[in-house]
Amino acid sequence: MENNKEYGFQTRAVHSGNGIDTATGAIQHPITLANSYVLPYDASAANWSDPNINIYTRNGGTNQKDLQNKIKDLENGEDCVVLASGVAALSGLFFAMLKSGDHVIFSSITYIAVYRLFNELFNNKFGVETTIVDVSDLDAVRAAIRPNTKLIHVETPGNPTLQICDIKALADIAHENGAFLSVDNTFSSPYVTRPVEFGADFVVESLTKYINGHGDSMGGAIIGKTEYLDQIRYQSQVNLGGVINPFAAWLIMRGAVTFPMRMQRHCDNAMAVARFLKTVDKVSFVAYPGLEDHKNHDIAVRQMEHGFGGVLSFGLKADHDTYNRVVSHLKLITSAVSLGHDGTLIAFIGEDDERQYLYPEEFHNGFYRMSVGIEDAEDIINDLKQAFEAEGIL
Ligand SMILES: *Cc1c(COP(=O)(O)O)cnc(C)c1O
Repeated sequence: MENNKEYGFQTRAVHSGNGIDTATGAIQHPITLANSYVLPYDASAANWSDPNINIYTRNGGTNQKDLQNKIKDLENGEDCVVLASGVAALSGLFFAMLKSGDHVIFSSITYIAVYRLFNELFNNKFGVETTIVDVSDLDAVRAAIRPNTKLIHVETPGNPTLQICDIKALADIAHENGAFLSVDNTFSSPYVTRPVEFGADFVVESLTKYINGHGDSMGGAIIGKTEYLDQIRYQSQVNLGGVINPFAAWLIMRGAVTFPMRMQRHCDNAMAVARFLKTVDKVSFVAYPGLEDHKNHDIAVRQMEHGFGGVLSFGLKADHDTYNRVVSHLKLITSAVSLGHDGTLIAFIGEDDERQYLYPEEFHNGFYRMSVGIEDAEDIINDLKQAFEAEGIL
């Protein structure tokens, strides 16, 4: 099944991009590990770099294409390119869409690689002008626009402070000024927010996170119009080469089948954990867009459905060592980076994080980022409780 937009979200998660394998009759598409496909009768007439025909897996393999069809349907987008990781998708998008002399406005709260790409690499190596802006402040975004502004890039919720920005308002500002809006939707996932529906030109997902969902694979997707995605295929996939492995594409395809059900559980559990943390006196702050006291809770309610994602950040009224000791007492929750795994993960982000200066005041003394898993919420909360008790936090 290739185009399933008339079906509901969970049905698309099951069926889009999959179906009967015509060669064997198997009712699921197989993993095709071959890196080459047979050439036509007149091989010299074929465009060997055409990403739309099966010739060579770097130009696009069958498992990659299946996954693209699924993600495109889940995001309600026109087209999708899947690459080897979320960062390959981000850098592939920027590489294809930007040239020297263009100007980019990017959110002060973004994934670390985006910060480095725009604050260090694209500006210094390629002469792309870049400005860091608090994109939750629309006047600040308008003020930063230049005649050569080509792209506004944001993340909502932003990693790691859970900042929320208004996708529709930012898309309007971008379009009034002849620029594109790209949204990194990894924290929300398409079950919670589909930025295309709010006017975003490009959406990026780290498939490594919720869509694969089991912490055992990496991939990234760019969703947008075919007109532009063809440029990304040609420039960033075929010629930069950050192609996804067929096995990884198949694993993500498999994980994506249960993604809506898992995501609902992530959202519900994160809300329960956030509410629990709010009751603990020695928790200095809880950043979660589902909480009524989140600065942009109203925008979150408008552009997120089913819940508010599975990631939250929180601080303790405690010193650096206490943060580490609390983690050492955890029995169920694992200390690890990444997010969107089945199991709950926590990471202590210390006072010396290189982007600390861009975070709100309450984040400056260190904080935890927590990816709430799909276990029983009570067990996650009890694990936190016993670790807090061991350190006199509770
Ligand atoms: C993890 C993450 C990425 C990068 O994805 P990889 O698959 O690790 O390359 C990009 N953006 C956000 C918001 C992320 O959380």
